[in-house]
Amino acid sequence: MRRVLVLSGAGLSAQSGISTFRDHDGLWEQYDVMQVCSTQGWQADRDLVTRFYNARREDLRDKQPNAMHLELTRLERRYGNRIVHLTQNVDDLMEKAGVKQVVHLHGTLRDLRCERCEEVWDVAYAPQNGNDLCPYCGSAQVRHNVVMFGEAAPMYRHIAEAMDTCDCFVAVGTSGQVIDIVSIAQRFERSILINPNRERYFGYFIDEHFTHFMQKGAVEAAKELGALIEAHLDA
Ligand SMILES: [Zn+2]
Repeated sequence: MRRVLVLSGAGLSAQSGISTFRDHDGLWEQYDVMQVCSTQGWQADRDLVTRFYNARREDLRDKQPNAMHLELTRLERRYGNRIVHLTQNVDDLMEKAGVKQVVHLHGTLRDLRCERCEEVWDVAYAPQNGNDLCPYCGSAQVRHNVVMFGEAAPMYRHIAEAMDTCDCFVAVGTSGQVIDIVSIAQRFERSILINPNRERYFGYFIDEHFTHFMQKGAVEAAKELGALIEAHLDA
């Protein structure tokens, strides 16, 4: 049975108004990326890092899913687990749109995590205030649940799993700077890239490694992608 792997990145949520460090605006301008997104930064100043993630979490509160999030939800409702959603995004827009099964490869902003027992719990948009205790083991060693530079990303095992079970790869709004989408695409006979820009990879354009390229934003490509996936899964 045919199955489709959809890997999404910052470009998907950017059109819902969620900024990233590549945009150099708003939230991110006040911080140095390595200070707030690396294990060294975390060790150096936990309060600063906590304030940064509190602000990012609060920023999600009023953000709404866009046409691509809704299209991905529609496809999941129609095809169930024949669509595998992996996302690099740490926001909750897929969930807000109604997607039931999505793996957050880089963690989630809405959750806190216990450094002692590794359990994770949802705090919605509430700030971590320094007095948080783990509801599972009572430890005060509580942190945000976003994967930082310098630590393992255990959810990456889902990429390898999906590469074994899927026969079509879709990359939406990811530049390939963190996860090497070219080497993933090369393993598929059918691959679709959606990105408004042509990005380079070792001197070649990334899109040349995909069988299908839509040079569009996620929102503008939503309907066309839906039709392509339906044609693939219904064949
Ligand atoms: Zn705990």
